[in-house]
Amino acid sequence: MTTVPVPMGRPGPDGRFGDFGGRFVPESLVPACMELEQAFAEAWADPAYRNRLDAILRDYGGRPTPVTECFRLSERLGARVLLKREDLVHAGSHKLNNVIGQALLAERMGKRRMVAETGAGQHGVATATAAALLGLECTVYMGETDIERQALNVFRMELLGAEVRPVRSGSRTLKDAVNEALRDWVATVDSTHYCLGSVMGPHPFPYMVRQLQRVVGDEAREQCRALLGGHDPDVVVACVGGGSNAAGTFAGFSETTARLVGVEAAGGAAVTDGIPGVLHGMCSLLLQDEAGQILEAESISAGLDYPGVGPEHAHLAAIGRAEYDRATDEEVLAAFRLMAETEGILPALEPAHAVAWLVREAGRSVPSGATVLVTLSGRGDKDVAQVRDLLAGGTA
Ligand SMILES: *Cc1c(COP(=O)(O)O)cnc(C)c1O
Repeated sequence: MTTVPVPMGRPGPDGRFGDFGGRFVPESLVPACMELEQAFAEAWADPAYRNRLDAILRDYGGRPTPVTECFRLSERLGARVLLKREDLVHAGSHKLNNVIGQALLAERMGKRRMVAETGAGQHGVATATAAALLGLECTVYMGETDIERQALNVFRMELLGAEVRPVRSGSRTLKDAVNEALRDWVATVDSTHYCLGSVMGPHPFPYMVRQLQRVVGDEAREQCRALLGGHDPDVVVACVGGGSNAAGTFAGFSETTARLVGVEAAGGAAVTDGIPGVLHGMCSLLLQDEAGQILEAESISAGLDYPGVGPEHAHLAAIGRAEYDRATDEEVLAAFRLMAETEGILPALEPAHAVAWLVREAGRSVPSGATVLVTLSGRGDKDVAQVRDLLAGGTA
């Protein structure tokens, strides 16, 4: 197997990150993946593309996002806590960084339509947002079960001009929506770009989405050095669903000595509990039963409900450059409240996993006085009603 020479550099042939990644797709999709790989390589090296991307993320998205020092939380935990504020990006999370990059790429490839998969609806809303901004057609595949649970996000996508197509196969959730989106892409590839939502799927998606999200880590590294007198933080923490906000964050720090920690939902911990397998065009760590059937991930945070993880995270875990841990629903609810009460910030339940890990590890594996950067991938307004119900149910 090929190894990646520099951690978080380019993947090896066929998009391999060590033993993981690759391009496990039907013959009919190989040309589409190769066309996309080529188009992204050219765009990424083209100052015109990069400048337009930067300008939109600045003037429309609100970048650069600040790094906020949490004085009261730091005092409480005995560690110096810094937050990278992706909750302040337009539409409320880091997802915009990826979808604007891909929408510009679709436009550049002459494709006037995007398809996307969505679970909780957040990536669907982000894709519909980017499509509206650039005047592209947008179709979002969503499992019927998720459509029932996330009616408000379905309405948001429709307001943004997207068509939401219900998926009735399998468990009628995210993994089935990915399959349908791939099927649509095979049939319409001349006119359509598949705007995939995380660092997963066949090559070049894991690499491309990481590069589009590395703005998070690159900005944060510079901001930390300014704040810390030229030093890097001791620990860098981010939550992991598919792994895009974590990959973007880690990319900025992979060449430092910072300890990199990805935090998964206890009910969807693919790095910790998964075994290697192939799903959605990639080889990665997946939650499977003994017969190799994919298991459903379960967590209070819909954005972390994916039974796999991006292949580069599987690789970073294998080579020991990043470590992965989990947070339970109870720890996450407590961290959500602590962040609200000490800092006046309602985090999304996804990054509340990263905060929960820090709350648990401060004074244990995170020594007192350490500087810790946490990526706050999104804002918690979307989760407030759910948190109210969970607290009323006495879960925390
Ligand atoms: C979608 C989402 C995630 C999970 O996706 P990753 O690809 O793991 O980053 C995390 N946080 C927020 C706020 C999200 O919307």
